[in-house]
Amino acid sequence: MGSKCLEKFLKEGLEDLRSKGLYNQIESLESPNGPIIKINGHDLINLSSNNYLGFATNKRMMDAAKKAVDKYGVGAGAVRTINGTLDIHDELERKIAELKDAEAAIAFQSGFNCNAGAIQAIMDKHDAILSDELNHASIIDGCRLSKAKIIRVNHSDMEDLRQKAKEAKESGLYNKIMVITDGVFSMDGDIAKLPEIVEIAEEFDLITYVDDAHGEGVLGKGKGIVSHFGLEGKVDLEIGTLSKALGVVGGCVTGSKDLIDWLKVRARPFLFSTSLTPGAAAAVIEAINILMESSEAVDKVWKNGDYLKKGLKELGFNIGNSETPITPCIIGDEKTAQKFSARLREEGVYAKSIVFPTVPLGTARVRNMPTADHTKEMLDKALEVYAKVGKELGVIK
Ligand code: PMP
Repeated sequence: MGSKCLEKFLKEGLEDLRSKGLYNQIESLESPNGPIIKINGHDLINLSSNNYLGFATNKRMMDAAKKAVDKYGVGAGAVRTINGTLDIHDELERKIAELKDAEAAIAFQSGFNCNAGAIQAIMDKHDAILSDELNHASIIDGCRLSKAKIIRVNHSDMEDLRQKAKEAKESGLYNKIMVITDGVFSMDGDIAKLPEIVEIAEEFDLITYVDDAHGEGVLGKGKGIVSHFGLEGKVDLEIGTLSKALGVVGGCVTGSKDLIDWLKVRARPFLFSTSLTPGAAAAVIEAINILMESSEAVDKVWKNGDYLKKGLKELGFNIGNSETPITPCIIGDEKTAQKFSARLREEGVYAKSIVFPTVPLGTARVRNMPTADHTKEMLDKALEVYAKVGKELGVIK
């Protein structure tokens, strides 16, 4: 018999979520997370993964991982700072820094851990953070962990950022002030206005922090948002994930050598959680080799993204302000968006609906993530299904 108060808490919480239709029933894939996935024996065109470059099943990367497993085993055996740093982790960090044209890099076990660790390692209760209102949950948690004053900034509103930066600076209340933003906003596919952010940061001596989880491997010929805008050396902390375009798992921070030295002694997930597996490290090294050799996969994800966007727009769907392959179809009403996604699924297309609280009320959408591995035939089929379901539910004429 367990605790009665826990039992009551869980029972009531689950019932509440289920009654409101907010309980997310997780489904398992019976296949790799590629352009076609199998669920319950059904093949579906997959428009929901972050596997932008198709690297999750890249043969060269899989071979590199297998070789590393043969050499080092499946686990690193300790946290990085005890004796869980293998030479392959050092090689990975050198590679990441090379890809990003940065002085140095640190690898974490996930992108989430980067934000949970890096913000807290730099900021404390005597500081303030200017945070875009649409920033990712891991940034929000990282900010909270730091105990700094969090100042929400209207989404990509440079007037608002400037005003709030000025007020924070002139108040004299804070030792340090940071501005923090997603690079590519994952629910809309729009890109942060990084050049203006850097300009405002220079004016008010703000620490600049960009989480490029969705831009890495996609923007700047794969190098990410800093390269996309030619801002090398002007952003203090650049965060990336090794789990989306790079196809594996893990996260990274790039910046000055002093910054990385500091994170290696102060970022708590680095200090207190076991290092990336050798197989993951080796696979990411190979992913970066591939990215630096050729832009083929990056070009393909953009080509596919543009094709899908053009098709959806021509059909009359509202794709919002997307500037990247991430393509939302904004439907508005929550129930219609959920029904839309369910009908797509019945017709063989897997694209998830995103509703409140992940996006504001009344802006529910179905989000599409084309990848480099989708063929024109798959995208044409998806568009055909979109047309059918869109008309059926009255979303398009
Ligand atoms: N930052 C952003 C902006 C993200 O979208 C995500 C993934 N959803 C993360 C961080 C976390 O990355 P990971 O999945 O590697 O933990």
